[in-house]
Amino acid sequence: MEAPRRLKVRCCIAGGGPAGMMLGLLLARGGVDVVVLEKHADFLRDFRGDTVHPSTLDILRQIGLLDAFLRIPHRREQTIAGRFAEGTLDLGDFRGLQPFDYLALAPQWDFLDLLADAARAYPNFSLRMRSEATALLRDGNGRVSGVQAHDPDGELEISADLVIACDGRGSTLRDAAGLAVETFGSPMDVLWFRLPRESGDPDQTQGIPARGRLLVMLDRNDYWQCAYVIGKGSDAAMRTRPLQAFRDLVAPLLPFEPARVDALQDWNDIKTLEVRIDRLQRWDVPGLLFIGDAAHAMSPIGGVGINLAIQDAVATANLLGSMLAGSAATIDDTLLARVEQRRLWPTRVIQLVQRIVQKRLIAVLLDATPGGLLPTPAVLRFASRFLAFRHIPARLFGYGIRRERVQFGSSD
Ligand SMILES: Cc1cc2nc3c(=O)[nH]c(=O)nc-3n(C[C@H](O)[C@H](O)[C@H](O)COP(=O)(O)OP(=O)(O)OC[C@H]3O[C@@H](n4cnc5c(N)ncnc54)[C@H](O)[C@@H]3O)c2cc1C
Repeated sequence: MEAPRRLKVRCCIAGGGPAGMMLGLLLARGGVDVVVLEKHADFLRDFRGDTVHPSTLDILRQIGLLDAFLRIPHRREQTIAGRFAEGTLDLGDFRGLQPFDYLALAPQWDFLDLLADAARAYPNFSLRMRSEATALLRDGNGRVSGVQAHDPDGELEISADLVIACDGRGSTLRDAAGLAVETFGSPMDVLWFRLPRESGDPDQTQGIPARGRLLVMLDRNDYWQCAYVIGKGSDAAMRTRPLQAFRDLVAPLLPFEPARVDALQDWNDIKTLEVRIDRLQRWDVPGLLFIGDAAHAMSPIGGVGINLAIQDAVATANLLGSMLAGSAATIDDTLLARVEQRRLWPTRVIQLVQRIVQKRLIAVLLDATPGGLLPTPAVLRFASRFLAFRHIPARLFGYGIRRERVQFGSSD
């Protein structure tokens, strides 16, 4: 068998999603020798979340990439609505919030390409596409000393002073490290699909709750990105039925002519997101740190996964960047825990809110016999009259808790 090729870097990041690409860019910009491994050939994946919240826009502004981001075709949502039997109600409202009074919807691959292009400007940055981290390397003391990877040329051993796992909710390195995971369960999975958008359609992203069903429609200018919520694990049984049965569930919820659901021609047009909420009980072991979905898989409620991943990346660069950029040959592993100490609280709070919404609203909704749109709850009808109330979800999900500010690599 051929000997694996070998590479030595200061920091190896496994996974080029939002967490990995942002962290790679921030470390490179601060002078750290960093390699990012991404197992796919490009970032062009099917829909995996396109929400870029104000907290992320603010990070882009801080690192001088906001203008470039705003040149990507995107949509700005200032309000998020709920559609009930009596009509539509604004439930979340960004208007009046500073510094950004909107949520941006942009293809995630364009966003990741932007980060990759910016990072490539630094000679100390390297992005290796089609390179999959498959195992951890350890030194004689059991400390993680790098990763084993596979790329089109074969096996590769990358030794690194620090490995940062950003390989998402199905993290290979999580399994390799054998870390304990706290799993919170979820009553739902989500079916994602697109429907055509036509002039005269409502001009707003909205949630449409009905008895036994819930549809969320993200306005993407050219099309509607739809999320249909189903009971946990019911996807396989649903897919054995004719597609028409699914169309019949969706059609009555649409805020335009039901026949448009005929755009769905095949079950392959519909992708399943298996919803999970979990969290590592400990985010680091000597030589290895987990952030983003690899440390904490989020429910799609609030569309916060990308933004939490970005905030984790900023905190990691702030807390560990100077050490990594420094000349000390060894890494102080005791510092790794600081990332978890900083990011655990916001993660916990958002996951708690997601679990409450899942239990008190979504599970109750899905348990009901399928029927028409829900009547507007009186409390919502009253509260939504007040901008301060509509600001609550916009602030919680859009700006998040404990917002990070880029410090490492910034001159100001
Ligand atoms: C269908 C769907 C819809 C979603 N909708 C939203 C939304 O609207 N808003 C929102 O904020 N969040 C949404 N999310 C969640 C969001 O995508 C994640 O929370 C976020 O992307 C997490 O970022 P990350 O960088 O931690 O992980 P990921 O985005 O999962 O990135 C991990 C990266 O690592 C790569 N990788 C995996 N294993 C390896 C390996 N062994 N070696 C090398 N590379 C590897 C993967 O290819 C991937 O590029 C959605 C997720 C899905 C699946």
